[in-house]
Formats: sequence, C-alpha cells, structure tokens
Amino acid sequence: MREMEEKIRAEGEVLPGGILKVGSFLNQQIDTDFLHAMGQEIARLYAGCGVTRVLTIEASGIAIAAAAAMELGVPMLFAKKHKTSNVDGAVYATVVHSFTHGTDYTVVVSRDYLLPGDRVLLVDDFLANGAALRGLVDLVRQAGANVAGAAIAIEKAFQGGGDALRADGIRVESLAVIESMEGGTITFRR
Ligand code: 5GP
Repeated sequence: MREMEEKIRAEGEVLPGGILKVGSFLNQQIDTDFLHAMGQEIARLYAGCGVTRVLTIEASGIAIAAAAAMELGVPMLFAKKHKTSNVDGAVYATVVHSFTHGTDYTVVVSRDYLLPGDRVLLVDDFLANGAALRGLVDLVRQAGANVAGAAIAIEKAFQGGGDALRADGIRVESLAVIESMEGGTITFRR
C-alpha cells in the first residue's frame, strides 16, 4: 500500500533496538481517514475468503481490526491481556512474548466469541518476530476455528516473523514491509 509507505517515510521515527514509532497516525493519535483506507485495503485483500470474524490483541490492533471488520461486515474480537497465567475454563488462553517489552504475557478470549467453524482474519499493527500472531493462531486453533490469514499494517521483515508464518502456510498480507531500518534509513521490500 503506497500510502502506508509514504506515511512511514513522512512520520515514522526509527528508535534504537529496531523499533519504529508511528504514534502520529497509528499507535497513539489515529489518522481516521487513513484508518478507513487501511480497512478498505484489508477488506479488498480478503474479499471472497469467507471471513466470519476479525481477531486482534488489545490495544494497538483494535482500531485497524475494527476498520477491517466494518468493511468486511463481520464482528471484531480482541484478545485481552491477562495479568496472571491463572485463567478459568471460560476462556481460551495462550502465552505471548512481547518484543517491545521483553516479557511474557497471557492473552485470553472468551469461548463464547470464538466458535468452531469460524474463519478468522488476524489483524495487528506490527509484525516483528511473529509471537503475537502465533498466539492468535493458537487461540483460533484451540477454538476449532480456521485461520483465513493475517493482515498487518507494518511488517518488519528483518525480524523474520512474517516469512516464517508464510513458510508455515499462513497467508500474511502486510500493508508495508520494511526490509531494513539500518542506520535509521527505512528500506521497503519490493
Ligand atoms: P511480534 O510479536 O511479531 O514480535 O511483535 C508484534 C507486536 O509487538 C505488535 O503487536 C506490536 O504491538 C509490537 N511491536 C513490534 N515491533 C514494533 C515496532 O517497531 N513499533 C511498535 N510501535 N510496536 C511494535
């Protein structure tokens, strides 16, 4: 998505440790016209794929997931971060390693909202090592549902998570794929 690359070039900030800051349009302030365009693009990519539900993790995936779900005309569900690993049987739970915080956390989703037979589109803001997406895949499989694919706003290909998921047979569509941020210069995959 050309517009995503232009936004990243104009407003993105490369931080130490391979972190890209996009607080001006995605992670704190949200450019709502652009959010709408992201939702439309994700819906175009997954049109005709039989998606019945969109799933993300709170909090930064919620806006994009909602925009995509609105365009696809399906419900949006977000997995909640849980403070402890003690969870009851009313939820599906999985442990995710946070790339940005360097810690593990548990995410849960109610068994009432993720159903066997669902075709689930996974959505997130960033894809780095792939831990967040793999956690969502695990939740979907626990429910006996199917993964239709993933749609990501910004993939950092140099961390390898996206290509590893593709190699595992999961369709991963990213609106921008960053090949390198070496020396603060952003290079996109072509
Ligand atoms: P992964 O689990 O693929 O390693 O990392 C994805 C998650 O970490 C995303 O949900 C996102 O919240 C966060 N993340 C990873 N890299 C970045 C980054 O460069 N910038 C921001 N803002 N978040 C990131």
